[in-house]
Amino acid sequence: MVELTLHEARARLDTGELTALALTDAFLERMAADESLHCYLTQSADLAREQAAAADERLAAGERGALLGLPIALKDVLSTEGVPTTCGSRILEGYVPPWDGTVVARLRRAGAVFLGKSNTDEFAMGSSTENSAYGPTRNPWDSTRVPGGSSGGSAAAVAADLCLAALGTDTGGSVRQPASFCGVVGLKPTYGRVSRYGLVAFASSLDQIGPLTKDVRDAALLLEAIAGADPLDSTSAPRAVPPYAEALERSELRGLRIGLPSEWFGDGLSSAVRSHVAAAVAQLEALGAELREISLPMTAYSIPIYYILAPAEASANLARYDGVRYGLRAAESPADIFDFIAQNREAGFGAEVKRRIMLGAYALSAGYQEAYYKKAQSARTLLKQEFDQTFEQVDLIAGPTTPSTAFTFGAHANDPLAMYLEDIYTIPVNLAGLPAISVPCGLADGLPVGLQLIAPAWEEERLLGAAYRYEAARGTIKR
Ligand code: GLN
Repeated sequence: MVELTLHEARARLDTGELTALALTDAFLERMAADESLHCYLTQSADLAREQAAAADERLAAGERGALLGLPIALKDVLSTEGVPTTCGSRILEGYVPPWDGTVVARLRRAGAVFLGKSNTDEFAMGSSTENSAYGPTRNPWDSTRVPGGSSGGSAAAVAADLCLAALGTDTGGSVRQPASFCGVVGLKPTYGRVSRYGLVAFASSLDQIGPLTKDVRDAALLLEAIAGADPLDSTSAPRAVPPYAEALERSELRGLRIGLPSEWFGDGLSSAVRSHVAAAVAQLEALGAELREISLPMTAYSIPIYYILAPAEASANLARYDGVRYGLRAAESPADIFDFIAQNREAGFGAEVKRRIMLGAYALSAGYQEAYYKKAQSARTLLKQEFDQTFEQVDLIAGPTTPSTAFTFGAHANDPLAMYLEDIYTIPVNLAGLPAISVPCGLADGLPVGLQLIAPAWEEERLLGAAYRYEAARGTIKR
């Protein structure tokens, strides 16, 4: 039963063939052996069993709901009342939030079961989970390899049947890249589609919460549950949430114009990924899509833009961890308040987080702000305009999610830039605020490859519909 999708489990719970408690216990039993993969930082077994029992009562009373009684995992950057929320950082070790973020609150009300908090690179900064202060997650397909990141714990948990589905967050690729590495579906919604209230901020102008699931229908179901305006997040859009799952049946690939960016199939793309993505694109064409070659030359600037703007925002967002308002208090006989804060931050943050804070503070400092931060903002606008113009000619964009399949631990340990380049195809999408999905499209030497589809802002219906038709033709990929 742990291999079910959300919608399959839904059907069994609704007929009474399965109870939420039995399903939850099956996951908790498997999770007892999670040390080998280390998908979870916290397992909330008591809460999960309590929620499952309550869901069974609601079901028995005749209540129905898309997520009622379904066990899921939450990335450990989502504020969850009563459950430790560490962001993969020592600085938040032992922090138990007294409140739920909006998305978590919605899922709780919907009757979802919280199995635990999944591993992440510290403050979601990374592409491999190697930056988690609590040790990395392993890729279920090959334990010598990373699951991707930063939502690596969520992706691996879905792939290894340690939850039915999971939530991750995507600032520069952190849902889509681990989905690609672990052979699951990962969706990054339009910026503003999902409330960020209670998502511990990394780069506020880029962060979005998104689902990691076993199939496209589940991604639609989960998006429907978490999307929508929120008075507590002024960047959440006051737009109605369409019935994404129901709309899948009406979707069509026929006649859709799909753009293939020539820059995304050139240098830097591994031949294994290239051939699988090319086959997927051919399949889209066979299903009736019309292929067009397009050009996105601003792609070349996306990594520099991102690595100025994201650290700049991070350096501001992470200022609150001072050992007073939040976080580890490790200072010993501090000379003064500055020394107190410095000692706490020195002890609490890992190397990558410190690197980002320094980069960001530098880019924002007097004298450099115009040269770096403002320049990067202008370039971001140009990149966004490039996508806007492209979407006047095509309905969707297709390409690889990542340049290569899952890499081995330590492969980029001494070269942060090589790690940053892993996100070359995902970061432009965040900078432009667009929705995108990664769908498994094959196995290269036994490792999953992801096809990325990108839609204009607010066109999640079109995006999911195309992914759904592709998946139906291709089939899901099982370990
Ligand atoms: N890998 C990118 C980074 O390190 C993206 C992370 C993310 O999307 N949270 O910033």
